[in-house]
Amino acid sequence: MPKTPKVTQSAKTAVGPVVVQKVVARNPEDQNPAAQSRVVVIGAGPAGLMAAEQLANAGIRVAVYDAMPSVGRKFLRAGIGGLNLTHDEPWEDFVTRYGDKSSEIQRWLEVFGANELRAWVAELGVETFVGSSGRVFPVGNKAAPLLRAWIKRLQNQGVTLHTKHRWCGWDAEGNLVIESADGTQHIQAQRVIFALGGGSWARLGSDGAWLAHFQARGIHCAPFRPSNCGFDVPWTDSFIQQHAGTPLKSVVLTVKSVTGQVWRKQGDALISSKGIEGGLVYAGSALIRDNIQKYGLCRVYWDLLPDKTIAQIKAALAKRRPKDSVSNVLRKKLGLADGKLALLKGLASKEQMAELQQLPALIKNLPQVLQTPRPIDEAISTDGGVRFEGLTPGLSLQSQPHVYCVGEMLDWEAPTGGYLLTACFASGVVAGRDCAASLIAMPR
Ligand SMILES: Cc1cc2nc3c(=O)[nH]c(=O)nc-3n(C[C@H](O)[C@H](O)[C@H](O)COP(=O)(O)OP(=O)(O)OC[C@H]3O[C@@H](n4cnc5c(N)ncnc54)[C@H](O)[C@@H]3O)c2cc1C
Repeated sequence: MPKTPKVTQSAKTAVGPVVVQKVVARNPEDQNPAAQSRVVVIGAGPAGLMAAEQLANAGIRVAVYDAMPSVGRKFLRAGIGGLNLTHDEPWEDFVTRYGDKSSEIQRWLEVFGANELRAWVAELGVETFVGSSGRVFPVGNKAAPLLRAWIKRLQNQGVTLHTKHRWCGWDAEGNLVIESADGTQHIQAQRVIFALGGGSWARLGSDGAWLAHFQARGIHCAPFRPSNCGFDVPWTDSFIQQHAGTPLKSVVLTVKSVTGQVWRKQGDALISSKGIEGGLVYAGSALIRDNIQKYGLCRVYWDLLPDKTIAQIKAALAKRRPKDSVSNVLRKKLGLADGKLALLKGLASKEQMAELQQLPALIKNLPQVLQTPRPIDEAISTDGGVRFEGLTPGLSLQSQPHVYCVGEMLDWEAPTGGYLLTACFASGVVAGRDCAASLIAMPR
């Protein structure tokens, strides 16, 4: 068993609300032959840190580098929304959330799935609970306590964390080029695990700049595309003034996929100054995006009153007194208020609003044409990145077996619901363990 590491330098680098101490294991070589190995992890998000933990568990020395002044910034940001860690649905449903990459990601989840993730969080002293929708959150709904406990544990295992260290590609000898305030280092590592994230929310670190370096080195990557994103709508100025920020509560969105399947889901959306967004839109966004990519546009349909039939809406409108406006009847008798009424008025013509025989059907099936996703940097996540075809089951590159890739930088996507973080953690476990096994098996 490795001895407790010795803290050689204290309280140096801020990790959001967490304080990182640089820790060096006390003579790790004496304790475990594998400790002589040196692994570099680049990217200190959930995937990279999880890979580092697996290596540290095996007694292997690992150094983590991150370009940002603190680690896990996107993870902490996810905590602002409550930190939806995973989902408590049956395995058969869970694995389908990864679309055409389900079979690849299923292998990771067999190693480290929702239950393992919850047990791991509990080991860090944070209990989880299942919300009404089956989504799993940490008690307290915050990411910082979990990250703080995790960083402390990693440090105690001898993992060194180097923030403000940006990986800038490879030099002519294939060494890693890392830039920091101290200058440029050329690092030769026995194994490298890249965990550089996707291509959205650059201000949190995942700027996607790595893609150009990978492509220049001949590593097959798919271009980034927004995932879990909103869409532009050219609202008028007066519409924006009145309705931007208005929620659309409990509506149904219908989208036909490019393969002809009809997707229908009830949930909440939001009218923004730029267009349309929110959980329900994010959930359908991959299908909408694929349609736009293929056909140049996507026609979606809103059911603004999912709990009412066309006949019920007709009956309510028929009882309208001459002095009542249509809007008032819709609002008062049918509950078609705020965002719902705004969307109806924003998308229907005056003539359609006045055509009371047709209006109920329109309310139940209001078409909207979407043509442009919001900019990729706004997306919750991205599709694209390192293609699975060039990876081993252990997530190293077939062409460069000492190089691993994990997390959102791989070419997969998933809806919100905890599926993103679960797969990021799971990929870190798979790659970290494979990497550790390869080093331990190495002839000395
Ligand atoms: C607002 C928001 C809310 C979210 N909420 C949830 C949620 O509730 N549940 C869920 O499952 N998912 C959520 N996600 C998605 C989830 O946070 C990400 O999928 C996940 O963080 C990806 O993990 P990762 O380790 O692959 O990459 P990241 O967390 O993006 O980490 C990548 C790291 O690499 C570093 N890096 C990048 N380039 C370099 C370089 N050249 N040199 C050195 N370091 C570099 C970055 O600084 C960063 O720290 C949310 C995302 C956002 C934006």
